[in-house]
Amino acid sequence: MSDETTQRKAIIFDRDGTLIVDKVYLNDPDAIEYLPGVFEALRTLRDAGFIFFVATNQSGVPRGLVDIKNLNEIHRRIRAAFSEHGVDILEFYYAPFLTEDPHILRKPNPGMLLQAATEYKIDLGASWMIGDRMTDVEAGHRAGTRTIYLENETYKEKEVYLPAEGTFKTVAQAVPFIIEQDRLRARVFA
Ligand SMILES: [Mg+2]
Repeated sequence: MSDETTQRKAIIFDRDGTLIVDKVYLNDPDAIEYLPGVFEALRTLRDAGFIFFVATNQSGVPRGLVDIKNLNEIHRRIRAAFSEHGVDILEFYYAPFLTEDPHILRKPNPGMLLQAATEYKIDLGASWMIGDRMTDVEAGHRAGTRTIYLENETYKEKEVYLPAEGTFKTVAQAVPFIIEQDRLRARVFA
């Protein structure tokens, strides 16, 4: 039996190409550009009972392309922008490791998601990971969430990972699917 007071359902978002435009090693807080429909999408998901996190790989940090102060300011501004729309992003997790580094925190590994689950008592089986890379999808699967893949023209990836439960072009387009799947799951596990 689930206990909603201690086990919450979450959506963990990738950042670039998912909530904001992928500027590749974004280091300028003034260059943040939100993707269409994200504020409304998260409001709808909030009303369906989800809490929100961001989990972003930041290999630009060890490469010297992204400054930690700027990264924190970027995340502060994104949180404030969503907050203005009534949406609380509880935590921004980032993995400052090189692409080839198999660190547990770097997607496709599930470390950031597991950290969120521990810190916020998340029911991962009732939660979702959403991203525009198959490494996001894989991180979700390794953590035990369900997943949404945002198909895009930037990344044409080899199918080395299990497919996502749902594939859409934007977060907004995925919302009805997530809510319907959440309803079906609640019927079984409530
Ligand atoms: Mg991305």
